[in-house]
Amino acid sequence: MEERKLRMVPDGSFGILYHCSGCNVRRRFINTGRFRVNANGNRIDVWLIYQCEKCKHTKNLTIYERQSAKRISKEEYRKFLANDEALAERYGMDFGFLGQNRVMIDEETIRWHYEDGEGKSVALKEIDWIPGDRVFIDNEFGIRIRREKLAADLLGVSRSRVQCLMEQDMLEIQSTGKQICIILRNCLEKLRG
Ligand SMILES: [Zn+2]
Repeated sequence: MEERKLRMVPDGSFGILYHCSGCNVRRRFINTGRFRVNANGNRIDVWLIYQCEKCKHTKNLTIYERQSAKRISKEEYRKFLANDEALAERYGMDFGFLGQNRVMIDEETIRWHYEDGEGKSVALKEIDWIPGDRVFIDNEFGIRIRREKLAADLLGVSRSRVQCLMEQDMLEIQSTGKQICIILRNCLEKLRG
């Protein structure tokens, strides 16, 4: 019996769907990983630049608008100027930030992987599930997924099988906030049926 902790981590920035004035239709825009910084006195604007996949037309998403320089950390400001890749990606995977910019997120193309507590990528097929295991999955990025679908992915079974296992009390799914806990009450061969 073990407690396992897994984190759901997006594979990269989310695409956004936006009306492209270059193409004159709605297109998928992708994160360029570049920032635009405009300093006016002690007021600072920062944008993250997205680009139409088709015609390279750009769309700036606002990170800071007329923000007092004192309220932006020196570290973050340095990263904006250096087009820090990790920072651009962090904003590109942030539902809150994208939502504030009123853009539609291309949720269907969001892919993710699982990492253990040390940040190492975990292959689900290699996990040796043992009856009594409690698997905690942190979905801190807030990826929208039904918990039954998540359990199905983790165990490598169908969603209807998960439903059936839950009805038979062989599998339990609990969720609290952004954490989901899966409790296995039987060995995987039996779970897989
Ligand atoms: Zn375009």
